[in-house]
Parts: sequence; C-alpha cells; structure tokens
Amino acid sequence: MATSYTLGVLHGDGIGPEIVPAAVEVVDAACAAAGADPISWVELPLGAAAIEEHGDAVPPQTLAALAELDGWLLGPHDSAAYPQPHRSKLNPSGTIRKHFDLFANIRPAKAFEAGNAIVPGTDLVIVRENTQGFYADRSTYAGTGEFMPSPDVAVALGIITRPAVERIAREAFELARRRGKRLTIVHKANVLKMTTGLFRDVCREVGTAYPDVTVDDFHIDAMTVHLVRRADRFDVIVTENMFGDILSDLAGEVAGSLGIAPSINASDTRAMAQAAHGSAPDIAGRNLANPIAMMLSSGMLLSWLAAKHDDPAAGDAAARLERGIEAAVRGGVRTRDMGGTATTTELTAAVADALRAG
Ligand code: ATP
Repeated sequence: MATSYTLGVLHGDGIGPEIVPAAVEVVDAACAAAGADPISWVELPLGAAAIEEHGDAVPPQTLAALAELDGWLLGPHDSAAYPQPHRSKLNPSGTIRKHFDLFANIRPAKAFEAGNAIVPGTDLVIVRENTQGFYADRSTYAGTGEFMPSPDVAVALGIITRPAVERIAREAFELARRRGKRLTIVHKANVLKMTTGLFRDVCREVGTAYPDVTVDDFHIDAMTVHLVRRADRFDVIVTENMFGDILSDLAGEVAGSLGIAPSINASDTRAMAQAAHGSAPDIAGRNLANPIAMMLSSGMLLSWLAAKHDDPAAGDAAARLERGIEAAVRGGVRTRDMGGTATTTELTAAVADALRAG
C-alpha cells in the first residue's frame, strides 16, 4: 500500500530558489510515474529571507514545523553574507543538523555515463560524521569550541568521541555491505594521533562485526591524491566532519561537477535532503545552476522514506528519478558546469519529460 508523505521545502539563498523548486517538480513527476501517493509540500522560511521576515535565519517556527514532517528539502545558504549578528551564529544547516542530531551525512559521487567526469567510472559514497570533529561550532553543548583569548590568538577545539564514531561507522559498514563491500577510513592519525587515531581505531573495531567488508585506511592528504587519480577504485569512505566536507567537494568535481553531488543528512528517525554544494552566489538568479544535486538528494530522501516505511512505491519513484536524470544527461541536456548550454529550467523540463515518458 502506498504511503503519503508531507515534506518541507526550504528554499534558502543564492541558487536555492532555482534548484529547490526544480527538485520538487521532478519528485512530483517521479511519484506520479511510480503510482506513489502525491507528496504534500510545506514551504518554510529559512536563510536571508527569513532574517528579513522573522529576524532569524532558522526561525523557531521552522524548527517546530520540521519536527512534525516526514522529511524535508533544504536549499543552500549563503550565511557568510548575512548581516551581523546572524553571520557569527551557527549556519542554518549546522543549526538544523544539530537540533535534530542528523549525525550521518551521506554524500555519493557518481559519474554519469555521458557526463564530464575527471575520473569516469567514479561511483563512491562518502559517509561523513556530522556532529563533531574539527568543526568547533557544532560539537559543544553550550558556547562554541572556537574562541579568541586575545585579538591575535584564535583557538579551535576538535572533538571525537567513541559513541559518535561507533554510530557513523555502523552506518558506513551497513552501506558498504549493501554496495561493493569495501570501506576506506580516512584520518590523519600520524599527526592528530589521539583524535583521528581514535576515529580510525573505533571504525576498525566496529568493522570486526562486518567480516564480509574489506577495510583499508588512508591519511586525508594521501586520500586527495588517490581520489584525483583513481576515484573509480573506491566504494564507501568514512571520515570525520571537516575531512568529509572537503573530500566530498573534491569527489563531486571528480565525478563531473559539484552541481551533481547530492547528499542526505540522517538520524535513525529523520532525514533531510541537501545538495553537497553551497549557494553559488556567483551564478544565482541567472538560470544557470545545475539542479541535479538537489534532485538526486531528493531521490535519496525518497529512498530513505522507502526503507523506513517499507514502501516500494517510494523506492520506485527514487529509482525512476535517477533514471530520468540519467536519460536527460544522456540526451545531451547539460548545464554549463557539465560542459553544456542548458539552463536550469531546460534541464528540469527534460528530466520531467523523461519521467512522464517512463
Ligand atoms: P559552501 O561553503 O556553502 O558549501 P562553497 O564555498 O563550497 O559553499 P559553492 O557555493 O558550492 O561554494 O560554489 C563553488 C563553485 O561551484 C562556484 O563556482 C559555483 O558557481 C559552483 N557551483 C556550486 N553549485 C553549483 C550548481 N548547482 N550548479 C553550477 N555550479 C555550481
């Protein structure tokens, strides 16, 4: 039996108001094609517009409304451009991830057959720990782990805890088990011996329960080299917060473009679709943005809902969405970042057409 979902829509800043509606349009088309119940969408304020209207980039009513939903689509934010004091606060995605303890940031990098990948054949997933590590603004209960004792001294704390590593490692091993059964741990345990050393060691301990998954590990600096040269040899990569953020931008570009790099942020009970890229202010408002990352992220949310609710129709919609995007790209409809000339709206229409054509 099909299940009906209510999902939040948060446009965000920069290219957000272009790519988020594009994702909504193709999710609707994919659900219709799969015979899934239509999604009920709820628009919620976030970002610069929310600061103007409600005095907060993530107004309390947005957080309260999200708590009632089955999931949501989060557009990118340009928090570096917010007026003070908003610029100094934890940014909107950090706020939402922290509020709902969305500890797992799953970031696939998959090259399209007819795409412009630097390493064709790339098909990997980065599992990024989302709640602590070296992003000091989100690993404290109160206050921030980054501070300045004097105008010329700045200090940042990095935090790694066993429970946080255990849960992200389990996510990564479970995913590896469903994919190619290979897991790579990324750390810097030759220098950050205790923190990233603990990350590596706990991942290895968790791995003893997954004898069917082959494990290796690399230092973050070596890993950047391996990704540029041979990204096609990796399957699942697990790493801490900041390394995962940087590595997934690199992996997205290696697979073709940051504009096709999706992600989902999840806990055991909640999930948020969010493109891996930022708000791209340099191209905002010009119909040039690639909506694929946001579309694929929304497809990941459908897959997550399908698994959570044992709902094959949502799973079918997710699979159709991915195939529809592949068909559009194969048909030569590519935005500028992919080496083409299509606009955001043209690519969106091509994906919707492919979905309607089945
Ligand atoms: P953040 O720190 O918020 O993730 P960022 O500094 O990593 O942001 P982005 O906003 O992701 O920067 O942009 C990096 C580059 O990638 C820019 O040149 C931008 O135009 C390009 N870019 C990002 N997303 C897209 C997209 N969806 N389509 C086309 N180009 C994009």
